[in-house]
Amino acid sequence: MAYSSSIEWTDATWNPITGCSKISDGCKHCYAERLSKRLKAMGSQKYINGFEVTTHKEVLSEPLMWKKPRNVFVNSMSDTFHENISDEYILEMFKVMNNAAHHKFQVLTKRSSRLLDLNKRINWTNNIWLGVTVEDSNSLFRIKDLKKTGAIVKFISFEPLLDNLKKLNLDGIHWVIVGGESGAGARIMEKEWVDTIFHEAREKKIPFFFKQWGGVNKKKKGRLYNGQEYSEYPIF
Ligand code: SF4
Repeated sequence: MAYSSSIEWTDATWNPITGCSKISDGCKHCYAERLSKRLKAMGSQKYINGFEVTTHKEVLSEPLMWKKPRNVFVNSMSDTFHENISDEYILEMFKVMNNAAHHKFQVLTKRSSRLLDLNKRINWTNNIWLGVTVEDSNSLFRIKDLKKTGAIVKFISFEPLLDNLKKLNLDGIHWVIVGGESGAGARIMEKEWVDTIFHEAREKKIPFFFKQWGGVNKKKKGRLYNGQEYSEYPIF
């Protein structure tokens, strides 16, 4: 668990699961995979299994002990709805989120079918923000799945954005995040692709968070879009 996070749109990460497996094109240069392998090589006990899916029951109750309210990114090193995690363990994580009402939890998944399977068994309190990742037109179905859930706050992370998503419908969505891919082998994100999402978000009055342009050196390209920083959040 990291108490503070370098991820631009959150304050802390909570990882009761580590490890994952690739499910779509957006996973190609998975940051969690690279970091898990590095942490294993550095001798971190938590990452002794590298990028293999592993549960960490010992950190399950940690958010309950954090007194100061935080925005907590859940399972930044995995996918909460991974097929190797039992229903019971997933539901236990959500119970912790329900009980830690002073924090806001951000749950982001690419496994929207599993999410739908469990949707009715989850108590969607308004401190749980639920998001799906959409990287290209093949993953637009995740937005439809997200809309079918009972989550009160729904968001989409378009990162890494790999395509111009012309058939986008953001009705019922409360927040969008856009970002290009970073690091070695990063794929290019065109400005026109960002424009498509920005215009749809503005039309529907949805807060827009522009994370970064990405590239091999993400700091060099920065995070200005049309000459300004967009770090908007929904108010809930
Ligand atoms: S779903 Fe996320 S954590 Fe899992 S392999 Fe893909 S990018 Fe990595």
